[in-house]
Amino acid sequence: MSGIVTGPAGPLAVVTGGAGGIGRAVTAALTRTGHRVLSVDREPAADPTAHAALVADVAVPAQVERLFAEVHQRYGLPAVLVNNAGVYPARDFLDYDPTTYAEVLDVNLGATFFGTLAYARALVAAGRPGTVVNVASISGQSGSPDAAYGASKGAVIALTHSLGRALAGHRIRVNAVAPGLVDTPMADRIPADRRDDYRARIPVGRFGTPAEIAAAVAWLADPASSYVTATVLDVNGGLH
Ligand code: NAD
Repeated sequence: MSGIVTGPAGPLAVVTGGAGGIGRAVTAALTRTGHRVLSVDREPAADPTAHAALVADVAVPAQVERLFAEVHQRYGLPAVLVNNAGVYPARDFLDYDPTTYAEVLDVNLGATFFGTLAYARALVAAGRPGTVVNVASISGQSGSPDAAYGASKGAVIALTHSLGRALAGHRIRVNAVAPGLVDTPMADRIPADRRDDYRARIPVGRFGTPAEIAAAVAWLADPASSYVTATVLDVNGGLH
């Protein structure tokens, strides 16, 4: 893990997948609401709105544990964790192989599970409250042409319901945002003909922007949503 420190003081937030389309928008939104954001990604990426950019592969539980130990030691205990890192191989089911399956599950589900575990243990040990926001997907509700992706996001939704209830007594809220289709590098992986087909089915007639997803994440991270936990917020332009 390495980092470059910039930015103002404020409550600490960790955003995984911080170098991606939605991650950058979440970092900007949380910075605007006064957070010091630690943007974590496996790719080193400078982000002028982040307090620090950290490098870790969150699909590896040992790296996640080390990340949270180092964050705690160097910056303090985060008030917010956004589990946003994700991969979408856009692989047809019949072309799947065990390596790609493991990567999808390890990033989309494993990083969310073990990131929340490391964070919750630190909060509980310190007797402090906290907030987790998971970035799920409409694919976890209605399926996906990439079956492993859909399954991983469905599991993130179930995990959100489970952990929201399990951690409520520790004053830790756990919620998720379920985006529909959002204009980011990930959505560029969808073949062009499928993109047009999807767009035609979205009631508002367009893909979402990263900022529209980030606004929902920021609300779930804010004390304004203090009575909301174990909930999945759909942000999908009416697509179901
Ligand atoms: P993106 O590809 O722009 O960003 C994903 C980021 O995650 C990248 O910066 C990548 O380097 C990082 N990442 C991947 N594996 C990692 C790992 N092992 N360790 C650390 N970082 C890792 O994609 P995005 O659209 O911004 O996606 C963000 C989240 O939103 C993902 O969880 C995705 O599944 C979800 N989502 C996206 C869409 C969409 O249409 N774009 C729709 C629904 C949900």
